[in-house]
Amino acid sequence: MAKRRITIPPGIWEKCEKCEQLIYKKRLKENFYVCPKCGHYFRIGADIRIKLLTDEFKEIAEEIQPCDPLGFYDTKPYKERLKEARKKSGLSEAVKVGIGKIDGKQVALGVLDFNFMGGSMGSVVGERITILVEEAIKRKIPLIIVSSSGGARMQEGILSLMQMAKTSSAIKKYKDEVKSPYISILTHPTTGGVSASFAFLGDIIISEPKALIGFAGPRVIEQTIKQKLPEGFQSAEFLLQKGMIDMIVERKELKNTVSKLISILKS
Ligand SMILES: [Zn+2]
Repeated sequence: MAKRRITIPPGIWEKCEKCEQLIYKKRLKENFYVCPKCGHYFRIGADIRIKLLTDEFKEIAEEIQPCDPLGFYDTKPYKERLKEARKKSGLSEAVKVGIGKIDGKQVALGVLDFNFMGGSMGSVVGERITILVEEAIKRKIPLIIVSSSGGARMQEGILSLMQMAKTSSAIKKYKDEVKSPYISILTHPTTGGVSASFAFLGDIIISEPKALIGFAGPRVIEQTIKQKLPEGFQSAEFLLQKGMIDMIVERKELKNTVSKLISILKS
């Protein structure tokens, strides 16, 4: 007698990488992509993040596209990596920027996507962020950037490091000329050149729970300073305790919190 086989249609269940339980995808979505069993935060891409945060959104600066200024080649050509990243993320680069509405209030919103080469900042990420900030200055509206990044994009060498100075000076101009707040939202992980530039320049810095936030990784720091790092070092909770960030907000409360902050802090 043939064994009875139960077939599960693909795409209905998702496995939690932390507790390894199977979760019904619809349930996961309803729970803001947080595991209902163990509370693990699933990584979400820019498109889902934008949907969770805004009522409507119109992308800008999409025409700014990557090129390969150095003809860089590591184990594969940079051009090949860009192609793969496009396929994996469904995006043209590691950030999506545009003008959106949160509870009817107009905002300039940028969201980094870790699925595109680890959310790394090359010339296009820097340029799109700068265009977004300039648009926020022109319209005098709140600026919100959601970060998720491994840092600067090494395949673009010094051109990617320059983006740190460029985005930082754009944000300085925003702060000088616009009375609305710049809200920076840090998600897991926010590190390297992104943490050392626009991500930490927010008037208000919010993090999702348990996000890893820092410049260099713990192993590099331990080898450099030759000391053991404290427990929980570089977690959002540790940084909150040390006064490096302003608040930790659960994903399901994020839109509401940002909306309230904008209303309170508007000029
Ligand atoms: Zn879980």
